[in-house]
Amino acid sequence: MTARADLQIRGALLHGSSVDIAITGDRITAVTPHLAGTAETGAARVIDARGLYAFPSFRNAHTHVAMVLFRGYGDDMPLMQWLQTRIWPAESKLTAEHVYHGARLGILEMIRGGTTFFNEMYWHRDAIVRAVEDMGVRAVVGQTLIDLGEVAPIAKQKAELERIAREPRAAGRVALCAAPHSIYTVPFDDLRWTAQLAGEHDLLVHIHLSETAGEVERCVAEHGCRPAFLLERAGLVNERLVVVHGQFLDDSELDLLGSAGAALVTNPAANLKLATGGIAPYSRARRAGVRMLLGTDGAASNNTLSMIESMKLAALLQKHRDEDATTLPAADALAMATSTAADVFGHGPANVEVGAAADLVLLDFSGAATQPVHDPVSALVYAAVAADVHTTICAGRVLMHARTVEVCDEQEVIESARRAAFHVTRD
Ligand SMILES: [Zn+2]
Repeated sequence: MTARADLQIRGALLHGSSVDIAITGDRITAVTPHLAGTAETGAARVIDARGLYAFPSFRNAHTHVAMVLFRGYGDDMPLMQWLQTRIWPAESKLTAEHVYHGARLGILEMIRGGTTFFNEMYWHRDAIVRAVEDMGVRAVVGQTLIDLGEVAPIAKQKAELERIAREPRAAGRVALCAAPHSIYTVPFDDLRWTAQLAGEHDLLVHIHLSETAGEVERCVAEHGCRPAFLLERAGLVNERLVVVHGQFLDDSELDLLGSAGAALVTNPAANLKLATGGIAPYSRARRAGVRMLLGTDGAASNNTLSMIESMKLAALLQKHRDEDATTLPAADALAMATSTAADVFGHGPANVEVGAAADLVLLDFSGAATQPVHDPVSALVYAAVAADVHTTICAGRVLMHARTVEVCDEQEVIESARRAAFHVTRD
């Protein structure tokens, strides 16, 4: 037994046994069989986890967190009409303060759903970084590049990305990535520039790719190649590349991405809701060696940030696509949301084991909708909902215990975000 842990979780269920988990600083320092009635351990805090199931916490590999402000604001509309009449006019009014309040609400929702990390792309990066720091989670927060002419000069965004990339990097919970929005909103020369900068500073590059058939057609017409090959021409295809959506990637593109060690994030809820067509080619991508991740996308097109819901949707959708019930089993859906993401985003091992970062959740499956538990992974992926998350821990800090969030005044966060949302959508 490790002496004087900061936190001890007693009696959690893990891989079929009851264990005690000791956490010191931001690491798991011991996982030992639980012995009822053992003596005081001297841990600063003890959590009674008897009857609760321990899992690594979830990693949301693609979102626009502050878009929770637009949850339910323009559902059931065609993509371009929705963007032009709802989202873009509202976004044009967004200030850093609105984004801060939106980001806190999104992070609060994620903590309640057991998510302790997200990979982000949005406006007002500083405000999102501040929200991540205040709420105790981890994030890779992209500096977005998007060429909207006068409205958002891309030169200014590039200068900002370069400035942040050159700052000395402190080891902390927030990291930077380059986030060129897509191949159709960022000029080719700027994609090439991004590749150079990312190489110099060892940055991940986070980009939407091959989300619609129209995007592929335009790319072929304008550049004479398919989207993934355009990224290769720009020098972006390597193990730092994280592409998002990818429903229309063909076999040659998957082979290119897989052999380079790139990652692909599928966002099943957003793809279904916006009816962008296609289903991410999971099985073929895995065979090609692509690292497969899972995201919620923004809440405007989902409308939740629940990774538990996304795991289920991803598994069901792939089974439907392949007409094969053995495709994407529950354990693989969990890996997409935990261990593979930890690998891509540099968090080390994601399992609940000695030496891993203390990023974990306790699930309460005692309710009618999750009983009986024949298989905890099945209960999590196919039967549970976000509200079944009992306790969320990130970097050794308890963010939520017994469904009480400890890192903020929850009502204040909700009220501030509600005011910000109404301000940008109604005034
Ligand atoms: Zn997106």
